[in-house]
Amino acid sequence: MKNDLEKADFKKILKNLPHTEADNYQCTLCQDTGWVLKDDMAYPCACRKQNYLAKRKENAGITAGLLEYQFDNFNLGYYADYLQSNSGSTYRQLAEKTFSAAKHFAYTAAKNQARRGIMLEGDIGVGKTFLAAAIANYLVEHDIDVLFLIVPEFLDQLRFSYQENSNLNESTIVDRARHIPVLILDDLGAHNFSPWMRNIIFTLINYRLNNLLPCIITTNLNLTEMNDAIGYRTVSRIIEMCEIHRLCAEKDIRRSKLI
Ligand SMILES: [Zn+2]
Repeated sequence: MKNDLEKADFKKILKNLPHTEADNYQCTLCQDTGWVLKDDMAYPCACRKQNYLAKRKENAGITAGLLEYQFDNFNLGYYADYLQSNSGSTYRQLAEKTFSAAKHFAYTAAKNQARRGIMLEGDIGVGKTFLAAAIANYLVEHDIDVLFLIVPEFLDQLRFSYQENSNLNESTIVDRARHIPVLILDDLGAHNFSPWMRNIIFTLINYRLNNLLPCIITTNLNLTEMNDAIGYRTVSRIIEMCEIHRLCAEKDIRRSKLI
């Protein structure tokens, strides 16, 4: 509390609060005032920081379902050490390598030193979105601005912005994706790309490559399929700006969790 006036205001707020059961408050410590009293002094409550973080995550496009995707929860046990991918590595070895690359990227980007991003390849349900979201959560928690875009939704939003009654603006949407320090493009490729969409993706990737702004990309396409979907000139830029890592799992991990 900076001065007596604020302290007086705070006491007034507390006095005027209706006397309801404690569990009616989201924060029982401060009864949602944002301040806690101790020895007649008011201190900012811990919930302020949590609320601020929750707002920043929401603003970064990290939806409720992605919040629990944290490095600490990544489970290598889902990746078999008795199955081999075409490259000769076991599924477990691939996952270990990818996991450590994702963490390395996050730690480097948290210091504003990441120039090269990562493209995570693999089938549906092998943990790509998990790792992309874990990077996003980590970075927001370390005060780095991130934007998590699900590509099909992003393109739909852009298309919608052209409608007459839309309150969305194409250049605002694209500008944010261009300039954000770390951009995550989740599910690139699972779409029928029109020439217009291809061009949007190309200019976005090209801008970020030229300005050394890293991207994390997830896709269930291999490079040939990706060439067909978004075009060679975009794919060649992605290869230039991203390390490529592959994840393989015996079965869909999301489904395994439900069993
Ligand atoms: Zn509180």
